[in-house]
Amino acid sequence: MEARTALVTHMFQVALDQLSIDEPAVHDDTDLYFEDGNIILQAEQTRFRLHKSIITARCPVFRDMLSFPQPAQNELIDGCVVVKLPDTANDAGLFFRAIYDYSFFEAPPAPAIVEDTLSILSLSHKYDVPNLHRRALAHLSTAHVCTLEEWDAEDSTALTFRDIEGSIADPLLRMIEVVYEVNALWLLPTIFYLCCSHPLQKILDSPQWISGSICETHKRTVLLGWAKQQHETLSFQKALIHAPTANCITHAACAAHVRRWDVSVMAVKGDKLPGGISPLASNGGQKFYYERLCQPCSQSMKTMAEQKRIAFWNMLPSLFGLPGWDELMKMKAAALKCIP
Ligand SMILES: [Zn+2]
Repeated sequence: MEARTALVTHMFQVALDQLSIDEPAVHDDTDLYFEDGNIILQAEQTRFRLHKSIITARCPVFRDMLSFPQPAQNELIDGCVVVKLPDTANDAGLFFRAIYDYSFFEAPPAPAIVEDTLSILSLSHKYDVPNLHRRALAHLSTAHVCTLEEWDAEDSTALTFRDIEGSIADPLLRMIEVVYEVNALWLLPTIFYLCCSHPLQKILDSPQWISGSICETHKRTVLLGWAKQQHETLSFQKALIHAPTANCITHAACAAHVRRWDVSVMAVKGDKLPGGISPLASNGGQKFYYERLCQPCSQSMKTMAEQKRIAFWNMLPSLFGLPGWDELMKMKAAALKCIP
């Protein structure tokens, strides 16, 4: 009997601990809890005390939602009706900040953080705030471009990841999900490309992949696209070993260099993929390779590589089941016209 009591007490304690782990206490947001606010919106365990007039003027969805009489059983806190939202506290906080303070999320070329931009993009789409939505799309579009010329233009974006030291596979996976949600397909080829430049294991181990927040269809697109991209990358690198060329002036040296380079780039090193050179890396990435070839071989390989890069760029959307660049560019132009 004593053992059973001890077990029940233990289970009760575990349940209590679980409760305290799963459900932290409800708290007020430090910035967005205005004394003269007249509506409380709660996301997860965070309360935002805001102004009905501001929220409803900026978000038609809230106007509709709050125009209905609130159920009598809705709790009142500080004299305000509490409306619970299904969003994360992080997303809601960023979204409300962007609504209240224009300088918090300015249009490009102002800098922006990828992770925050995705939160604002997702909720501005959901709650129908077109200006904010376009601003978020404009930020993502500075990095996720539709032409190879834009891709090669350095420093064209002020968009950065929050954790620049860690793997960006995780935020890229979230980006894929949010971008599909808002149907901004023109952003996807380069997002998929960057994501699939990671070793497969890194993608499969990333929290977004494991958490189940990526739908099965998009997981399939990532996996099939990863294999196709890997195939194209390797075939690009194999094309580079077609030296010595007919015009070679140092045949033995060029042949030896190409053999060494081939062995070195095709080797699997640690968690790195075989082949260190991506088709979309600029020629600078292959500098070492060209430098050791004779001038005619070097010139010939550079020309060939440039043609292959262009071909790879043109096929990139198709690797991930997306429409061609022309169609994607039309979608982009329609969505971004009159950027606020
Ligand atoms: Zn040569």
